[in-house]
Amino acid sequence: MDAPLIIVGAGHAGGRAALTLREEGYSGRLILIGDEPHVPYERPPLSKGLLQGSQDLAGCSLCDSTRLAELGIEHLAGNAVSRLAPLQHRLQLADGQWLPYHG
Ligand SMILES: Cc1cc2nc3c(=O)[nH]c(=O)nc-3n(C[C@H](O)[C@H](O)[C@H](O)COP(=O)(O)OP(=O)(O)OC[C@H]3O[C@@H](n4cnc5c(N)ncnc54)[C@H](O)[C@@H]3O)c2cc1C
Repeated sequence: MDAPLIIVGAGHAGGRAALTLREEGYSGRLILIGDEPHVPYERPPLSKGLLQGSQDLAGCSLCDSTRLAELGIEHLAGNAVSRLAPLQHRLQLADGQWLPYHG
C-alpha cells in the first residue's frame, strides 16, 4: 500500500488543505495530524463572535468529525509531530509512533 499523504497541523490552513485535496479529487490515503483536541477551526471568531456569544465553537469549525470521516480524512487529534526524518519519508508522533509519508 502506498504511504499516506500527511498534513501536519490541523488548523485553518491544514484543515482547508485536506478538504481541498478531496474536493479536487485526491483519493489516496490522507492523514491530518494536529496537537489540539478539536477538528480544524477558524481562530478569528475566538476574539469576536465567540466572545460576544453570537457564535459557538462548532460554528467556527471548518467541518465536523463525521464529515472528515465521510471524506476519508484520518484526523489524529491531540497528537503532536515531534520529529521528521525527511530522507526516510517518516515522521514521529509525541507518543513515539513512527508513520511513513508519501514523498
Ligand atoms: C484570537 C485570534 C484572533 C484572530 N483574528 C484574526 C482576524 O480577525 N483576522 C485575521 O486575518 N487573522 C486573525 N487571526 C490569525 C489567524 O487566526 C491565523 O492567521 C490563522 O489561524 C493561521 O492559520 P494556520 O492554519 O496557518 O495556523 P494555526 O491556526 O496556528 O494552525 C496551526 C495548527 O498546527 C498545530 N501544530 C503546530 N505544530 C504542530 C506539531 N508539531 N504537531 C501537530 N500539530 C501542530 C497547532 O496546534 C495548530 O492547531 C487571529 C488569531 C487568533 C489567535
